[in-house]
Amino acid sequence: WFPVGSRSVPAGGPQQGLGRGAGLVPLKPGRSLMDWIRLTKSGKDLTGLKGRLIEVTEDELSKHNKKEDCWICIRGFVYNVTPYMEYHPGGEDELMKAAGTDGTDLFDQVHRWVNYESMLKECLVGRMAVKPIAAPKGSVHFLFYSYDWFQTDSLITIVIYTKQKDMNAELVIVDCQDKRLRGEIIIDDHSYLVEVDLDHAVSEDVAVNIAEKVGKVEIVLNKKDNIHWKMLGQPLEGHNTFIKRTDRGLFYRKCKLVSKTEVTHDTKLFCLMLPKGTLLHVPTGQHVYLKQIIAGTEVVKPYTPVLPSLPLDFQESPHQDGVHIYLMIKIYSHGLFTQALDHLQIGDYISVSNPEGNFKKSQVQTSEDLLLLAGGTGFTPMVKLLNFALTEVSCLRTVKLIFFNKTEDDILWRNQLEQLALKDERFEVQFILSQPSEDWVGKQGKISSSLLSEFVKRSRRDSKALICICGPTPFTEQGVQYLKDLGYSQEEIHAFTA
Ligand code: FAD
Ligand code: NAD
Repeated sequence: WFPVGSRSVPAGGPQQGLGRGAGLVPLKPGRSLMDWIRLTKSGKDLTGLKGRLIEVTEDELSKHNKKEDCWICIRGFVYNVTPYMEYHPGGEDELMKAAGTDGTDLFDQVHRWVNYESMLKECLVGRMAVKPIAAPKGSVHFLFYSYDWFQTDSLITIVIYTKQKDMNAELVIVDCQDKRLRGEIIIDDHSYLVEVDLDHAVSEDVAVNIAEKVGKVEIVLNKKDNIHWKMLGQPLEGHNTFIKRTDRGLFYRKCKLVSKTEVTHDTKLFCLMLPKGTLLHVPTGQHVYLKQIIAGTEVVKPYTPVLPSLPLDFQESPHQDGVHIYLMIKIYSHGLFTQALDHLQIGDYISVSNPEGNFKKSQVQTSEDLLLLAGGTGFTPMVKLLNFALTEVSCLRTVKLIFFNKTEDDILWRNQLEQLALKDERFEVQFILSQPSEDWVGKQGKISSSLLSEFVKRSRRDSKALICICGPTPFTEQGVQYLKDLGYSQEEIHAFTA
């Protein structure tokens, strides 16, 4: 237990005093390490507690802060160091710095190499009383979730009881790559995370089973080798935490660009493929963040996933296979991010975050009239919304899209929208151009009170309406104001913003 590197052992051995640099003090004769060991083996009651171990509160610890009565806490264990005082190589004064307190840091700094646990075991008074664990950053819930896991020869199953009645696949995001498992469960505006470096390798086919009624979530992994796991794995930074979603850093995974198709002269449909081992569904009305390194700097921008097409075939709604993410993106000629995106080649990778956004599908489920106001690519959140409304919400009587664009050439999916209006009598679309050519016979202008009063109407005098609006910021802001002026309440309006 001699300190190495600080200075050589003085002639005459340890009894001359050992310690740290200038802190070395000469020990009195008969106070060497050997003498100390002898004392600890003598059967003398060194703690004053006759071998009993007690639980020590901080308050109690602080009372024992004198030379003739000195307790110190090291790594959660409390020692009565009073008898050791004269044996301490660094001297009594140094020991007294930690008297009645937690001396772990002090001891780690000065005597990291000394095994105090073993040297002071006869002085052990007991453990520190457990303090309530400090709540993770931003946590306001007292509910605390946890997980359980079990195994068979071939499977590892992680179980989380969320007690949430409406648990569904959109609320569970799993990433399992290279032995790292990250499973995030969204519970209202909070998130629970399982994040471990797995004990052994698993294959990339991950499954999630959800018992919706009781809110039980199972993440099922396939073992690569049929061996018995001693543990699930080493916990990583966010493991077993339940915190506000906004306090959880954005998590990105690399997705492969699999196709890029033209929608209009400046807008493209990008199809990205999630990596194997990732299970992620972007809910209706939510966006993701894309991240690229541009000129050595990390740049992040939000985009709202769409579907590969509108729901034109009612036997089968557009393919949402959980593997591909479709993004409809306008390429600006001077746009920093979109120019870089446009230069991506098929097979290239781009980082995609977890979904975010405050839109709730339940807002649609209780409406009779759904009115969608879109400006340019502000159409993107309306795609999944239309699909959801027309294929899953039975109480809706009318669904109307009022689509504002500069020119005819800018209208996204015009053909599909017109076909949809022909197929589903509940759906109607109105195009309004701000810079039409001379031969445009349709409506023209920018968002205004008079245009809105002409097109935004309830199907019945007191029918329940939901109006969703998305586009350039001035478009959205003016639109919300006009709608309020027309008598629509805040609850009836949802504005998509960042
Ligand atoms: P920048 O470098 O920021 O701008 C360069 C130039 O491009 C500007 O000077 C201007 O001439 C032009 N320009 C850039 N942005 C705009 C703009 N918003 N309006 C008009 N001119 C502009 N975009 C999509 O195409 N599809 C989406 O699905 C989509 N979803 C979004 C979701 C959210 C929540 C938000 C907030 C924005 C969304 N956007 C979407 C916009 C997107 O995030 C970027 O702002 C856009 O792609 C421009 O990025 P950029 O770096 O290329 O342009
Ligand atoms: P754009 O410039 O082509 O304009 C489309 C139409 O919006 C115009 O024809 C006009 O009617 C209206 N408009 C534009 N500027 C206006 C103004 N200042 N005042 C009133 N009306 C105006 O639009 P774009 O280039 O396709 O841009 C679409 C916008 O939508 C972007 O700003 C994008 O960030 C935003 N967006 C937001 C979200 C979201 O928040 N969830 C999603 C997608 C797109």
